[in-house]
Amino acid sequence: MSASAISVPQANPGAGYRALRGEIDVAVARVLESGWYILGQEVRAFEAEFAAWLGATAAVGCGNGTDALALALRALGVGPGMSVVTVSHTAVATVAAIEMVGATPLLIDIEPDYYTMDPGELAEVLAHPPAGVPPIRAVIPVHLYGQPAAIEPIVAVCRRHGVPVIEDCAQAHGATIAGRKVGTFTEVAAFSFYPTKNLGALGDGGMVAMRDAGTGTAIAALRQYGWRSHYISDAIGVNSRLDEMQAAILRVKLQHLDAQNARRQTIAAAYDAALRGASLAPPARRGDAGHVFHLYVLRVPERAALQARLREAGIGTGIHYPVPVHLQPAYRGRLPVGPAGCRATEIAAEQVLSLPIYPELTDAQVAQVCEALRRL
Ligand SMILES: *Cc1c(COP(=O)(O)O)cnc(C)c1O
Repeated sequence: MSASAISVPQANPGAGYRALRGEIDVAVARVLESGWYILGQEVRAFEAEFAAWLGATAAVGCGNGTDALALALRALGVGPGMSVVTVSHTAVATVAAIEMVGATPLLIDIEPDYYTMDPGELAEVLAHPPAGVPPIRAVIPVHLYGQPAAIEPIVAVCRRHGVPVIEDCAQAHGATIAGRKVGTFTEVAAFSFYPTKNLGALGDGGMVAMRDAGTGTAIAALRQYGWRSHYISDAIGVNSRLDEMQAAILRVKLQHLDAQNARRQTIAAAYDAALRGASLAPPARRGDAGHVFHLYVLRVPERAALQARLREAGIGTGIHYPVPVHLQPAYRGRLPVGPAGCRATEIAAEQVLSLPIYPELTDAQVAQVCEALRRL
């Protein structure tokens, strides 16, 4: 088989559309006919439906997941002269959002088994902030690959220090700890609806979810020029709105999210079984976590060779992420890192490999991946 003949792509957002084409086309036509395209009834309905599904008091739609994080930070009053602790093993977006509000990202290491924020190192930097770093005013743990971070110890240590926590849930719609959904453990949480996420739009979109209705009102103003009412700005805001078309599409997709997450878990279990007896271990699950497998990530010392063999078997793979944020050209040497020096992050970046996992994979495609894994 030639290198270009990938029959199981690593991601396939088009398949996500085609699987729900009938319902999505009806929703899009409804918006086109309505004559109302920005912040209307579809956005209001989706915000209410998403908040109800999550178990949040309120939810406010915005332009994308990066903006959702930045709006959450602004609502907490985070800005210049303050630090925000997060991880370096994440989408650059998490760190970009912190700099968007003028704050300083302080990047700490991960738990190597779960790829999420190390609560021990967090406790250390809160107790003994590194010299020369502005005061820590927020912490953003990332629920990565569909698996929750150690959110309970993180929230507990932050509470002791009076520092608010914002969950980055961009990869974890529906993930749980002891049955409770991520995004409900903190006052404010941020979601992305980038097309490949577990809940994906057919364009950009984001959401801030919160416990306090007043925070929702504040963020709803911030996302649109700080308007309290039309043309009256009470605060200095931005323009980051969710549009009606994406909201209508997301309302359709939200109805299928739980079933689609279950399908991802079924596929993950098939990959686990295929790896039994192989030299590669399946992804570790946190004991009480409901992992929703945004990505199925292996740790592979000889990554390039394995990637090539899977490509020959027609299977696409991805690397999330090849370069930690603190080593990327735009950030290198400029951002403070925690006392562990992000060593576990740097090792993970050299070894992680993402297999195809999305609900529209056919049983035959899953079998094809399993067959290739069995031959490793
Ligand atoms: C996708 C993602 C974001 C950003 O979302 P956008 O909608 O692309 O702005 C933030 N954090 C994480 C962990 C992500 O995976």
